[in-house]
This record gives sequence, structure tokens and C-alpha cells, in this order.
Amino acid sequence: NAPVHLRAILEGSRGRDGAAALVYGDERMSHADYFRTAAVFARRLVDDYGVAKGDRVAIAMRNHPEWVVAFFAAAGIGAIVVPLNSWWTGAELEFGLTDSGAKVLVADSERIERLAGVPERLGVAVVAVRAPGPLPAGARAWPDVLGEVPGDADLPPADLAPDDPATMFYTSGTTGVPKGALGSHRNMIANILAGSYARHRALMRLGLELPEVRALLDALPPSVVLCVLPLFHATGAQTVMLPTLAAGGTLVLMYRWDIEEALRAVERERVTAITAVPAMISQMLSSPRLAEHDLSSLLTLGSGGAPAPPALVGRARARLHELMLGQGYGMTECSATATINGGRDYLLRPDSAGLPVATVDVKVVDPAGAELPPGEVGEVWIRGPGVVLGYWGRPEATAETFTDGWLHTGDLGRLDDEGFVYIVDRAKDMIIRGGENVYCAEVEAAIHEHPAVGEVAVVGVPHEVWGEEVGAVVHPIPGHTLAEADLRGHLDGRLAPFKVPAHIRIVDRDLPRNAAGKLLKRRVKAEHGWDAG
Ligand code: ATP
Ligand code: MG
Repeated sequence: NAPVHLRAILEGSRGRDGAAALVYGDERMSHADYFRTAAVFARRLVDDYGVAKGDRVAIAMRNHPEWVVAFFAAAGIGAIVVPLNSWWTGAELEFGLTDSGAKVLVADSERIERLAGVPERLGVAVVAVRAPGPLPAGARAWPDVLGEVPGDADLPPADLAPDDPATMFYTSGTTGVPKGALGSHRNMIANILAGSYARHRALMRLGLELPEVRALLDALPPSVVLCVLPLFHATGAQTVMLPTLAAGGTLVLMYRWDIEEALRAVERERVTAITAVPAMISQMLSSPRLAEHDLSSLLTLGSGGAPAPPALVGRARARLHELMLGQGYGMTECSATATINGGRDYLLRPDSAGLPVATVDVKVVDPAGAELPPGEVGEVWIRGPGVVLGYWGRPEATAETFTDGWLHTGDLGRLDDEGFVYIVDRAKDMIIRGGENVYCAEVEAAIHEHPAVGEVAVVGVPHEVWGEEVGAVVHPIPGHTLAEADLRGHLDGRLAPFKVPAHIRIVDRDLPRNAAGKLLKRRVKAEHGWDAG
């Protein structure tokens, strides 16, 4: 009967010594210290900045420990936390501040520099984190704001209800302007529970009974989770940060994504779990250094946020324990997780996004919104306690996307007879070649089966007769060479002729991705002159 709000998660850390809550390079913070620091910062937000329930507190910084502290402090007093993308330019950060109407901004020195006076102009108070240089007028440094953190620091009182808004995460902006998704406390808690149930389910589907599963999970030491994803997106904050801290585990933060540093951190901190985007997992698995590191502590390696090439399972299988891999599907608008595929299910169906998590209903519908039977491809709709309250300040987009509790995902997919979900493409990415639908993800998966392929983007190329043709840009694994003829030979027989790319470009650079690790297909098209109509 735990209270349904984020403050309760923070309170769970009170007085808890032992395993660290936050690790960042050489810095370690116990759960108890993290609670006290957040409690003091919450007090300062109320007393010094007049933050009241419903006010927006923006965070713009790298994955510093202060990110986590500021998040829980603000949410713990009923403010709405607005994580801003740390990759954003000054103008984009300004958009985030005005769009959300933030009252306070907690930012590191790089973001403050990029904003160059904007917060003062907008009247947003700035708390500067890890900013050694001179501060803009009115900004105060984090240590000065905190002052001394007393041993008995406690949170200021707050009156929180489960359906109060708590967070406003922006969508990744893969298909257009990022939209602020207003998430409630209940949305966040629902997602944490969904992940935990999914873990039980994966073990039960191996044939274990519930008591055995409980005993097994209880016997495990608290998780040590390497956070390689940015905290400002739903995946990093909601599938990595929240569940880890809620379970009393340790969150290992990194300044930036670095394969070598990630492998070293796993060994040094005895990391038990990593959740990453598929591109990161693929890079780790193809690192020539993989075998030099002791990765024996690692129990799960999850991917999410973008299509995972089924070939990844084969690659992981050859190098790691085969049952540790999993993938999840979801989006900002459903508080991260809608389906999870893990354990043996994933080995058997590496092309599936998995079963809906316990709290979620999934259906596939035709363009009129009528439910389609298993096997047929249509738009994926999701319902459940993780579906957010709506988009902040966008009533039209909210009305179009959320109807009667159902979230219209904009993704095309199908179900099989057992209820497994298969995501075939984003509706906006699907290529229509002379009336035939070509799903980019299917072509990408076939190309990925070639052992030399590191990354691939399949996009539509405008064509006078067909409307669109299939184009592929391929980046081989560093150190491998790949010839177009070789790749064509590989695809021959794997794909129907109309799906085989008419255009193949082999490049020796990383493909353009956003901070969520998603391919920016608009940019891929522009780079190859494939965007003109
Ligand atoms: P925007 O909505 O601003 O264009 P975005 O959709 O990339 O950006 P997110 O909410 O971060 O923003 O991403 C959710 C989307 O990511 C899903 O709708 C889906 O297209 C894709 N996705 C997530 N997980 C998976 C997965 N396992 N397989 C395939 N696609 C996935
Ligand atoms: Mg989206």
C-alpha cells in the first residue's frame, strides 16, 4: 500500500547506508546522503525560489549526480520536472524554457554558456551546477544554494496525489518538433512496476513457479546499473534511474557514452545491468576489447527505444550468456515501457518487441480505428496507467493522439496469436514503392544479418514512376570492408526483389543520430540528396 508518488521513492532512500545510490567517476553518494541532499535542495526550492505545486523546474545538464538530486527534490514537493535535452543548442534550450514556462533552471556550465543570458531575459532563476567560472547575474552556484547539509535534513511538507503531474519529458524529436509529455506520479510508478513484473514473467516463462522466482530475485544483491543513456529522455530516466533507485540499487553515471569506459565501469563497479539503445549494444558487442574485460557480474543487457536488429541476438549469444539479452518497446507518451521481450522468448522471437507489460493493453487498428486480427499490420495503440496526461500546451495534438484512454503510437505493427507485438516501422518512415509497402525495419534487419554491417539506415528515395524507391546507407563495423556487390548477393533471396534497395551507399562514418540514439532519417536523406521531390 505504498503511496503512489515519486516522493515515496526518494523517502525510501532515507537513512539507508551500505550500497551507494549514485556513483560518478570517483564520486560516491550513499542513499542516505542522496536523500539528505535532495531534501535540502527541495527546501531551498520552496524557501529561496518560491517553487509551489505545479511550478515547472527545468534541468539541463549532463548525467551528473545533481541531475538525479534535482529531479527528486522538485518532484518530491509537487513541482513538475522538465528535463531538457543537453544536446540542444541555445535556441532549442530557450524553446524548452519558454514552452514549459519554467520558474527555475538547474544547469551545468556548458548549458549556461549556450543559453547566454536567455534565463535572465525570461526571468528564469538559475542554479549553476559544476560551474567553476564566473556566473551570469542572478545565478547561484549549487553548493551555495545547498549550504550545509544537516544530518537530519528532511523534506518540506507536500500534498501529493497520484494523478498530479510530476514530469514533462520531451519526445526525442525524431519525426518533428519535440513535444512535452505531461506525466503524472502514477504514470512513473506504473512504469517501475511494469518493469519489475516483466522480470518475474521472464523467469516464470522459463518454467519456474512464483515462489521460486521470488526466492531467486530476493537472493540477488541490489542491482548496480550502468546508466549509459541520457537522463533527459524517458528511457534513461524512467527505465534506468527510477527503477534502480526505487529498488535501493546503485546507479553508475557516465559523463558521456564511451564504449571502453562502459566496459571498464562494468568491471570496476561489478555492474549487474545495462539498458542501452541497440546501436550502443551493437558497438559493445563488436568491440575488439570485449574479451579483455571481466563482465561476469552482468546479468541483463537490455535494449530499447529503437528497432533492435534481430541479428544482435546472434552476436550477443556468441559472446555473452544467451538469456541476459532483452528488448523493450515504448515511448515518452506511455512513460517508457509498453512491451518487453526477454529471456528465452527473445531467443525464440528476436524480431518481436515482446509481450505487453502487465499493466498495458495493446491493440492494432486500421486507419478507421477498428481493431485488426493477429497477423495484420496496422497502427499500434496502447492503453494503461503509464499513458501520460497529454502534451503540455498542445490541445490539438493531445486530442489527436489520446482518445478514450488509448494512445495512438504512430508506429505500425502486428500481433501474433500468442499476443507478441512486432513493430514493423514508424508510419512516417514506411516506403511506398509503386503501391507496395516496404517496411524500413525489415530491410534494415536483412542487411544487418551481414556480418560486416555495423549500422544501416533504410529510407525512401523519391522516384518519378514508383513514387519512392528503397535506399540504404550502410556503415560497416570498423575494420571490416564491405562491397556493394557482396551486400547485394547477401540480400538476394532474403528479400523480395522490390524490397532490395535500388540505391546502396557504403560510408565510413557514423550515421546521424539524435540524443536518444535514433537514426535521423531526414538527415540521412538530405546527406545523400534523396530528399528532393
Ligand atoms: P518524436 O515523437 O518527437 O518524433 P520519438 O518518437 O523518437 O520522437 P520517443 O518517445 O523517444 O520519441 O521514441 C518512441 C519511438 O521510438 C516509438 O514510437 C518507436 O517508433 C520507437 N521505438 C521505441 N522502442 C522501439 C523498439 N523496441 N522497436 C522499434 N521501435 C521502437
Ligand atoms: Mg514519437
